Amino acid sequence: MNNWPKIFKFKNIFFAFLCVVLLSCSLARFCQTNFNLASENLGSECEFSVYFFDVGKADCALIKSKNHAVLIDAADKNSKQSIKDNLRKLGIKTIDLFVLTHPHSDHYGQTVDILKNFKVKCFATSKSRIETSVKRDYKKIMKELKKNKINKKLVKSGDLIEIDDIKIQILGPTKEYFNINNNSVVSRIIYKEHSFLFTGDAEKESEKDIIEWCKKNNQELKSNIIKIGHHGSNTSTSWNFLSSVKPKFAIISTSEDKFKLTKKVRSRLKEANVKTISTNSSGTAVICVNKDEIKINNLLS
Ligand SMILES: [Zn+2]
Repeated sequence: MNNWPKIFKFKNIFFAFLCVVLLSCSLARFCQTNFNLASENLGSECEFSVYFFDVGKADCALIKSKNHAVLIDAADKNSKQSIKDNLRKLGIKTIDLFVLTHPHSDHYGQTVDILKNFKVKCFATSKSRIETSVKRDYKKIMKELKKNKINKKLVKSGDLIEIDDIKIQILGPTKEYFNINNNSVVSRIIYKEHSFLFTGDAEKESEKDIIEWCKKNNQELKSNIIKIGHHGSNTSTSWNFLSSVKPKFAIISTSEDKFKLTKKVRSRLKEANVKTISTNSSGTAVICVNKDEIKINNLLS
């Protein structure tokens, strides 16, 4: 997977085969753009963008449209990137929705920092037990939510959140599990004809239940782009799930030392012909949408 181009562009998924022809043109054009997170406001040139920050074996994604921002997870406390700094550099002042997929420290790490420094309108998470080791941290988050009078919602399959033209369909969890990873909020975000699936650390058990739930409820699971579950580890991304989602592109948020763990998932992605970006080798990944066009670029951060 290391040899797929760092910059890729495709126009309408149904014409993906044109990529080969278009790639040379897009490379030339895109390379001229200096994507430097430290100095540029990337959001200004995309009507809709998704950032997968390079935060090691942790998760943090920002969904940004012209007037709205959604944050999914807040990395680890010790992640190499400060989410607060990243958001400020991107001109974010208000977060319409903060989704905490599940109560593990590589997902909630910088939450308090975010709640203290940005106006967060709504906080969504799922029903889950909290491990004793993180209870103290979790209390701090709850305290900060209360202090700032932030609306907290427990979401589950079937919930729908709409923020102007951003639709957030909650597909999981379908129930409460003992395994906290399986309690991850799994959301399908739709902007115009583009769809993005965020899986948190959901494992195969939850994936299976989501497939069944979607079938039963006539809910689409197919998505153009997927954030691979559980940092690419083999606990997740079952063949069945992958063939139900049918993504064109995949993002793995992980760190160098976990590379070996992603081997099996990577081979499944390869077999399914899914182009994959991993933050451990490519840095922060940015997906930029303008009308029916998607550009994907990895920032070297
Ligand atoms: Zn995790």
